[in-house]
Amino acid sequence: MSLTYEDVIAKYEPVLGLEVHVELNTKSKMFCGCSTIFGAEPNTQTCPVCLGMPGALPVVNEKAIESAILIGLALHCDIAPYSRFSRKNYFYPDMPKNDQISQYDEPICINGYLDVEIETDEGPKQFRVEIERAHMEEDTGKSLHMGGATGRIHGADYSLLDFNRAGIPLVEIVTKIVPGTGKYAPEVAKAYVAELQKILRSLGVSDVRMEQGSLRCDANVSLRLIGEKTLGTRSETKNVNSLRSVERAVRGEMIRHAELLNDGKKVVQETRHFQEETGLTRSGRSKEQAEDYRYFPEPDLVPVEPNAAWIEKLRATLPEDPTKRRKRLQAEWSVPDKEMAAMINADALDIVEATVNLGADPARARGWWLGEISRIANEKEVSISELSISPSDVAEIVTLVEKGDLTDKLARQVIEGVINGEGKPAQVIESRGLKVVSDESALMAAIERAIASQPETAEKVRNGHIPAAGALIGAVMKDTKGQADAARVRELLLGHLGQSSD
Ligand code: ZN
Ligand code: MN
Repeated sequence: MSLTYEDVIAKYEPVLGLEVHVELNTKSKMFCGCSTIFGAEPNTQTCPVCLGMPGALPVVNEKAIESAILIGLALHCDIAPYSRFSRKNYFYPDMPKNDQISQYDEPICINGYLDVEIETDEGPKQFRVEIERAHMEEDTGKSLHMGGATGRIHGADYSLLDFNRAGIPLVEIVTKIVPGTGKYAPEVAKAYVAELQKILRSLGVSDVRMEQGSLRCDANVSLRLIGEKTLGTRSETKNVNSLRSVERAVRGEMIRHAELLNDGKKVVQETRHFQEETGLTRSGRSKEQAEDYRYFPEPDLVPVEPNAAWIEKLRATLPEDPTKRRKRLQAEWSVPDKEMAAMINADALDIVEATVNLGADPARARGWWLGEISRIANEKEVSISELSISPSDVAEIVTLVEKGDLTDKLARQVIEGVINGEGKPAQVIESRGLKVVSDESALMAAIERAIASQPETAEKVRNGHIPAAGALIGAVMKDTKGQADAARVRELLLGHLGQSSD
């Protein structure tokens, strides 16, 4: 039986849990000196340590610890004064030592939170996602399945192994269970990953490119009947590689679980793989319990004991908390709640701020980015930051409109030209001939022509019937190809016909 999303949320409460793996952008790997540059020839960035040769000894990368602490601090976590690495034992063809160095019961960051805001039926609403832990570990190598149609192992003729990724430092950020999101669970999951991505980018600790795998999200979802206390069985959808997919994966899993439960079947605790083409997941492996990994303390590494002075030094370098920053900007720009939410939803805050910092009026900067430029972005199905128009272009356009050198109508054409790659605003104005006709004698000549072509209309205006002036103004605007300032035309026209312009 096929259920709609509305059927699901009428009966069940979803509970989320999100795990995000972040590849740090350190120059060298977690436990050896090998380079971490992305895209190198396979197996050229390896050594006995990251290949897992017997007897090779790992050494912790200090910069990676620093990044982990920064991430913990930004997520309001406690930084453990003492933490240890463990061996997590499992077999993976791209992990030759058959264990991954990770952190188990003594992670470096614990008990934090991240606030995310989403648009609900009742307006913007904030959800607090509590963080259980953030720990350090190493990445595995990569299997490339060759000869098949899909690039997956099924149907492949053979597989190749690339160990360049083996040993790249990762921080895994694990949330506590997130109940209480109700029908907004998919949006909250997406907003959490988006917010995390922004924070990590602002910390400068990772490239956070989901499509390149430097930020990977595993979404845990379970359902329970509304009012039920016990948690349902969860499934874990692995390595979802875009923000949109996070939302789709959670929604899809909620529907799949509800269909099983309604049919009296059981949800199997397992990992699942998200399929971009269908928005559905397919079964992966049945999920190990923690005890299956046979964790034990890594005997080759000393504990990590960051001293308080180091932690405080790092805390002092943190960028402004995103929630506080939003509040500050909203106050500085006097933006109503609803428009602020629209700006955040459109991911336009940074770009508007950059435009304002270049001297543009906040309301006008916001208006262009969320209006005309967003419209073009929607048409092209890209985000505004992907369009080839910069904050400095928009700041320049805003200034020209304020000075009266451009009308709004002309400004729209300039924006279109810049986005089409016709050059900077000044070049577009020049090549398209978009300057406002502010030469009064040229305007007066156009007004005379309008009056001569519509003498009866002009007569009505002379007799005090002001609304009739619209047709004449329209004719002047047409005559000047829309490059005149309509308000100025009106003023001149009415004055010329012996009427006051207010
Ligand atoms: Zn190495
Ligand atoms: Mn992990």
